[in-house]
Amino acid sequence: MDSSHNHTFIVEHLDPELEEWQSLEYRSIYQECNSTGAQFILSGLADPSTVQKQLDLPSSSLQQKGVETIYATPEARARVCLLDPKAEKDISPEDAGVFDAFLFGGILGDEPPRDRTAELRNKGFPGRRLGPEQMTTDTAARVTRIVVQQGKRLDEIAYVDRPDIELPNGEGGAVNPNESVSMPFKYVKGADGKAVMPEGMIELLVRDMDKGIDDLL
Ligand code: SAH
Repeated sequence: MDSSHNHTFIVEHLDPELEEWQSLEYRSIYQECNSTGAQFILSGLADPSTVQKQLDLPSSSLQQKGVETIYATPEARARVCLLDPKAEKDISPEDAGVFDAFLFGGILGDEPPRDRTAELRNKGFPGRRLGPEQMTTDTAARVTRIVVQQGKRLDEIAYVDRPDIELPNGEGGAVNPNESVSMPFKYVKGADGKAVMPEGMIELLVRDMDKGIDDLL
């Protein structure tokens, strides 16, 4: 596999606000791209300078332009792969050479999914699926990276499906077995056997416990 091929990972922000949860997802996509030599772009931002402060990312990664402007011609769009839960074909390591960029919907997952990825599909980007289950945007980017940068096939990746996340109590970090949240998504399984999540996500879940998890999904 040609690991020297430098891909761009581009997330088009499609939600009206930038939720804290999403900020953590975007930061983790940026960090993982940064440490693996891929470029990260967050596009379609109404106000990039505010987002720059909120996310603490280099301004070169933040774009007001939407993907339809960045990739204006049919020729340019043909080299951009939309990760699309409704695509007919699953992604494979060979796609590393077919595409220059991988495009994701910057959308908080919803259950059941409302197919907001359609907004990007309708702009004429070719699509690939990451299997039938819905993932968060950062997981989708992580899985795509494992396939196109590490050359693994989808069925070689270990996952944790719909994990129950145990939430530590504030003091001392001891786990209270009664406090857990069920996440309705599929995650990459980390070396510790647990679902890989963005840094700060567990702390955010703990803080948002009061609000009720339903408000977040
Ligand atoms: N519920 C949303 C999906 C949100 S997931 C919807 O209505 O479309 C956020 C993004 O992650 C999607 O836009 C897509 O780019 C990517 N993604 C998540 N799961 C995927 C899958 N199984 N296959 C391909 N892309 C996926």
